[in-house]
Amino acid sequence: MAAPESVVSFDRLDPLKLKRDEFLLPRDTIYMDGNSLGPLTKQAKNRVARVVQEQWGNDLIHSWNKNYWIDLPLNVGDTIAALIGAEKGQVIACDSTSVNLFKVLASALKINSQRHIVLSQRDNFPTDLYMVQGMSEFLGHEACQLKSVSEDLLLESLDESVAVLMLTQVNFRSGRLHDMQSLTKRAHEKGVLVIWDLAHSAGALEIHLDQCEVDFAVGCGYKYLNGGPGAPAFIYAAKRHHRDMSQPLSGWMGHARPFEFEHDYRAGEAMLRFLAGTPNILSLVALDAALEVFNLVDMAELRAKSVGLSELFMSCVDTSPSLKDFALLSPRNKLERGSQLAYSHPHAFAISQALIAHKVVVDFRAPNIIRFGFTPLYLSYQDIWSASQMLIKIVEEQLYLEPKYHARGKVT
Ligand SMILES: *Cc1c(COP(=O)(O)O)cnc(C)c1O
Repeated sequence: MAAPESVVSFDRLDPLKLKRDEFLLPRDTIYMDGNSLGPLTKQAKNRVARVVQEQWGNDLIHSWNKNYWIDLPLNVGDTIAALIGAEKGQVIACDSTSVNLFKVLASALKINSQRHIVLSQRDNFPTDLYMVQGMSEFLGHEACQLKSVSEDLLLESLDESVAVLMLTQVNFRSGRLHDMQSLTKRAHEKGVLVIWDLAHSAGALEIHLDQCEVDFAVGCGYKYLNGGPGAPAFIYAAKRHHRDMSQPLSGWMGHARPFEFEHDYRAGEAMLRFLAGTPNILSLVALDAALEVFNLVDMAELRAKSVGLSELFMSCVDTSPSLKDFALLSPRNKLERGSQLAYSHPHAFAISQALIAHKVVVDFRAPNIIRFGFTPLYLSYQDIWSASQMLIKIVEEQLYLEPKYHARGKVT
C-alpha cells in the first residue's frame, strides 16, 4: 500500500535522507531496534576489514605506534565528546558501561567521601543499580549505600546525606527523558555529585554535559553510536575533577608510564587513568569508523527528525481502532521523551515476534512492553508508516496467535 502524500513529502524534505546510504541494513527490513544494537555502517565494515588485513596482518605489534592504536581510547573519546556537548580531553572510550559505572562511582564516592548514599531511580536500568549494590557489598554499607526511589521522590530525596545522584537520562523502558540541567543544578545545591548514564541518549539527542556542569557520565557504544556488538562504552569526567579523581581498577594501561613497568601504581594523566587493561582495538576501530556517520550531522536536526518519526507513529496508533489495546507508556510530550516509544499490550511478546518475522525489527521488554526505536539516520517516514501498517495487519488478522511467535529465546 502506498503511503499518504504527506508522508512522502516529509521524506522529500528530510535533510538527513542521504545518511541511510551509509548503513548496510538488510533490504526490506525496517530496523526499529537501534536503541538496542545499532546497525552496521559501510565505514565500520570497511575499516575493520582493512585494519585486520593491513595493521594486524602486516604491521603487527608496530601498529601500537605506527597506526596509533595506543591513542584510540582518547581519540574516539574526543569524537564522542563532540556529540555530547563536551570539550575535548574529557571523554575516553573503554570497557563496558557497567564497568565504567563502577569506575566513576568509585571516583565520585571518593571525592564526596564525607557521605555514602548513592541516590538513584527504582526503575533505572538494572545494571546501574547492580553496580552500586556490588560496590556497597565490597566497601561496606557505611561507605556506599544505594537508595533507589520512584521518580516523583527524587527531588525530595536529594539532601545533604547524598554523595552521588546517579540517573539514566532516558529511561530504557518508558523512554522518559530527565531534565539534566535542572536535576544537576538541584544536586549541586545540596553538595551532591552527579553521574548521568547516556546509554539511550548519546547519538539520539542533543546533550550539553559541559554546559549543565555534569560531574561524570557514562554511555554505550553499541546503541545509537552504532559501534557494533559489545562496542566499547565511554566515560566523561569534567575537567575540574581530573586532578582528584581516582578509580580502583588500577591496571597498567591507566598508569602514568605503562612501559616503564614500575613496581608501584601511579595514576595516568587525566582521562587515561580510567583505563585498566589493554584496549579492544578492533572494537574501537569499528566504533571510530561508525562515528563517521555523524560527520556534519546537526544534532538539533537529528532530534527534530526523531520527534517527527515518533509523532507519525504515535498518530498512526492513535487513529487505528484495531490498535486500541496498545497503551502508550512513554510521555506524550515530546520534550519529556527520548528517541523511542514503549507500548504495553497483553500479547506484546507474540506481536513483537510477528513484527520481527515480517521484517519490522522491534524489541520486547518483560512483562508486556514493545519498544519502537526511532533512529533518524537510517529510518524514513515511509518506513515508520509501513511499520504501523504492518502492526495493524498483524493485530487485525491475529497473525500473532500462531504458535511459532510464542517461543522465547535467551535474549529478548
Ligand atoms: C544498555 C544499557 C547499559 C549497558 O551496559 P553494558 O555494561 O554495556 O552491557 C547500561 N545502562 C543502561 C541505562 C543501558 O540502557
